[in-house]
Amino acid sequence: MILHVAVPCPLHGTFDYLPPADGPVPRPGMRVQVPFGRRHLVGLIHTVGDSSDLPQHQLRRAHAILDPEPILPADVLALADWAARYYHHPLGEVLATALPVALRQGKRARAGSPDWWRLTATGREPAALDSLRRAHRQQALLQRLLQQPEGVDAAELADLGGNWRQALAALVDKGFAERCTPPRPEPAPAPPLNPDQEQAVAVICEALGDFHALLLDGVTGSGKTEVYLAALEANLARGRQALVLVPEIGLTPQLIRRFRRRLPGRLVVLHSGLAEGERLQAWLAAGSGQADVVIGTRSALFTPLARPGLLIVDEEHDLALKQQDGFRYHARDLAAVRARQLGVPLVLGSATPSLESLYNCQQGRYRHLHLPRRAGEARPPVTHLLDIRGQPLEAGLSRELMQRMCQHLDADGQVLLFLNRRGYAPVLLCHACGWVAACPRCDARMTWHQRDRRLRCHHCGHERRVPEQCQECDSDDLRSLGQGTEQLEQILTARFPDVMVARIDRDSTRRKGAMEQLLDRARSGEARILLGTQMLAKGHHLPSVTLVGILDCDQGLFGADFRAPERMAQLITQVAGRAGRAERSGEVLIQTHHPQHPLLQLLLREGYSRFARESLAERQAAGLPPYSHLALLRAEAVDAGPPRLFLQEAREWGERVSSPQVMLMGPVPAPMERRAGRYRAQLLLQAPDRRSLHTLLDGLVPQLSGLPSARRVRWSLDVDPQEML
Ligand code: ADP
Ligand code: ZN
Ligand code: ZN
Repeated sequence: MILHVAVPCPLHGTFDYLPPADGPVPRPGMRVQVPFGRRHLVGLIHTVGDSSDLPQHQLRRAHAILDPEPILPADVLALADWAARYYHHPLGEVLATALPVALRQGKRARAGSPDWWRLTATGREPAALDSLRRAHRQQALLQRLLQQPEGVDAAELADLGGNWRQALAALVDKGFAERCTPPRPEPAPAPPLNPDQEQAVAVICEALGDFHALLLDGVTGSGKTEVYLAALEANLARGRQALVLVPEIGLTPQLIRRFRRRLPGRLVVLHSGLAEGERLQAWLAAGSGQADVVIGTRSALFTPLARPGLLIVDEEHDLALKQQDGFRYHARDLAAVRARQLGVPLVLGSATPSLESLYNCQQGRYRHLHLPRRAGEARPPVTHLLDIRGQPLEAGLSRELMQRMCQHLDADGQVLLFLNRRGYAPVLLCHACGWVAACPRCDARMTWHQRDRRLRCHHCGHERRVPEQCQECDSDDLRSLGQGTEQLEQILTARFPDVMVARIDRDSTRRKGAMEQLLDRARSGEARILLGTQMLAKGHHLPSVTLVGILDCDQGLFGADFRAPERMAQLITQVAGRAGRAERSGEVLIQTHHPQHPLLQLLLREGYSRFARESLAERQAAGLPPYSHLALLRAEAVDAGPPRLFLQEAREWGERVSSPQVMLMGPVPAPMERRAGRYRAQLLLQAPDRRSLHTLLDGLVPQLSGLPSARRVRWSLDVDPQEML
């Protein structure tokens, strides 16, 4: 007997081993401890065969089988195979992505008792809270548990931050809290669906039981989540599990609570913020069939499901669904593969669908479902461009926008300002000589963070104190150029001293739980001015926002990437979609120096769908995706020479094995050539059809490690790249 084992290492294919002398009968999907070079690694049995290409005496014996039963079912193994082939990525690393860290490390795959907690009768008494006046963490935890008398999944408590486990243990010691079984409360009733929603739900329900791909194309606030919930309920009623993928940022406790309130059955959550043990338990509950709904971020796509029935990918246009390093896969695209393998429907939802998915609808591969109107009483917001050419600006705000803000605030509205740049200012400049603070490791400027007096590079993380003087001429007249959210917050706090301002960006939400706290302040109406980067743009339901101001959309108009206009349109539409989501109507003001820009005009006058249709026509004319297929070979090194040399060698090899329709373009330096102290270059491969691209890659990729310059660079391959950086 020969075990073909996938080992977590950057080599392609599987490795052959003799089975261990004793232990369970080896089967595919079981973990196995193997010697690998001088190391011992945890691999996964891919197949069990009876022959090897290696001579008998070279075969090494596996140390031990780690699982009594396979932990990965055949369908997940098949999905990993498919992904390894399609993305030309080592199978062992693909499978490592599929497994929770605890299992990769060889820990036991044993389901524990549910990690649910609630207050005891004593804990619910007011005296309990009083007694904790000096233990803030325990007090906060108790307050949280008070809100959910039926019990709380420990996985949800992580956002309390700090050492909440310790606080929980203390509450248990005091007799205030206890472990409980997950409750199965009566699900809250759904609102009556409107006819568009009904229609969408009917189509999805009809599709249950077979593979179909459906694009739920619904404007912001149209009630897509309600459609998911109805479909999930129908799927549950058939005794089936569902997997729901969301971008990281969309997976807020609020969303989880909404799902939990509304769905019968057990819901588990899988995302990178979980402790390993929690992640493992959720994963095992999915695989054993104990969990009914799995909601998670992109890597949750590989979760085993005992009785799968439905896959949903929310915000399917979101870049966060694409992994941008290591194993570069797109969870949306793989979800389609998995749904087909499982014979279950896939629902992709978005207010701003990707051009890829719209193209698939045009081709008849996906069914296009529309929710053209907002649900309930909410009306679409009214959008205007503000021409700011020659206008005085204060921290990037024009007078007109400021005036509208005052009016909305006076009328008890809430204002959301969008500025996609964090920090105080993107440039620190010497007024005497023109010197600017640049990152020593990147072709980029350092961002000035005034509050903690640091300069930070947003590309590599390099940071230093803000200098007192110019590094060139010693002048102390250093000034900021441009503005970021920190500066905007400062100006607004000074300008509106009585109004609470909530800033939501990567800096203000670094602490665990901070994001939720800020959003709570926004939702409760305590904070009346919200400002932030794209973190604020995504998915949040902020019912009282009446005015949305987009401070600067001009950057998006001139991006180097051919996807820049698509991304700009998605961002504007999503940000604008935060306005007027409840009874009160919304207004959106977009500041621009290019009010006549055809893309902006088209988007504003005709809306995202029309914009997308025109963009598709342009892509077709230019032969760009989705009308062609790309792969990007990247290389980097401490010196500029080797990456180009390596890619040149790759190109020569590629030209030998490729068909004439495939174009090899480059090597060229990456748009930002130096990053984190390394020079980067890229070679773009473009083909009119997938097959010729993959034929080329099949021939080329195995050669790459053997190219003369390969040892002098780090290289990676990105199939269907989403960013050309
Ligand atoms: P989306 O996911 O498309 O952004 P949601 O499902 O979050 O939209 O719905 C937006 C708002 O409209 C929510 O407050 C939701 O409760 C409400 N809503 C959705 N469907 C209906 C309906 N049929 N009737 C009344 N309100 C609805
Ligand atoms: Zn100077
Ligand atoms: Zn840098």
